[in-house]
Amino acid sequence: MIIPLTTKANQSKVMRTAKRLLVKNNVEYSWDHGVEKNMVNEIIMAIERTKLFLQNEYHDQIRTHIQVVLFSSEKAMEEYLQINKIDGLTHKQIAELSKYPALTISARDSNNRPEAIILRNINKAHAGLDKVFIIAHELAHVWQAELAQQYNFYEIKWLAEGMADVFAANVLEQELAYQAIWLDIAKEYLNKIWLKSLHTPKGFQAEVEKYNMQLVYRIADLATLSLKRNYGMEAIIHYFSTIGVTHHADKSFKNVFGISPNKFEEQFSMGGLNL
Ligand SMILES: [Zn+2]
Repeated sequence: MIIPLTTKANQSKVMRTAKRLLVKNNVEYSWDHGVEKNMVNEIIMAIERTKLFLQNEYHDQIRTHIQVVLFSSEKAMEEYLQINKIDGLTHKQIAELSKYPALTISARDSNNRPEAIILRNINKAHAGLDKVFIIAHELAHVWQAELAQQYNFYEIKWLAEGMADVFAANVLEQELAYQAIWLDIAKEYLNKIWLKSLHTPKGFQAEVEKYNMQLVYRIADLATLSLKRNYGMEAIIHYFSTIGVTHHADKSFKNVFGISPNKFEEQFSMGGLNL
């Protein structure tokens, strides 16, 4: 999940909410008193593993200044989001966002350099989720933002989320295993939840509220896998890079994949799952 920010979150407020701080390899980690040290170490390892994968596999690296903030509960994360007043979000929307296991807030610092704050909500309900998967997903968003030079990289929302999940499965070297799980969860809904309705961030969120988070993400994942099988991951990465030039996700999609997103979305939902 990603929230684009036009203004910088207030650092002193970060410190007030998250009590402890550690800096490792240019990433700042902070966490509240309810988060165990073990968990912090696991998250640090997940970040390092993802960065190494990016280097080895794509010869790229994250240049954004990253803060990782860990919360022991949904409530603590919600408080943080309320204090840091995210532009244009209502209290109700913030409460909804706090249910996500992790969020990336994409912003720029006072010198106009890219900055990202990754919020990880650690509570019982999410304990079973793979930490490496979640962190790799969030770092993929940071990478997308860099590739697109901070322009509308999330404009085709299902592709931004799907790419982050496929990337995370690749970091774990388990793409086929994840594909099987995703298909199992989503197969009955592939032609009920239209990919077209997951195009904009707003539409995506509406479907999350109508069905559920799991289901909607799985459809985004399968659509992205279908793109990947046909054009390769390099093409998907190239799509994000060209947004930095066109400033327009739909245009980039057409340029890179040779088909309009609308047409692709239609084909996918009409039973064109091509894995
Ligand atoms: Zn995401």
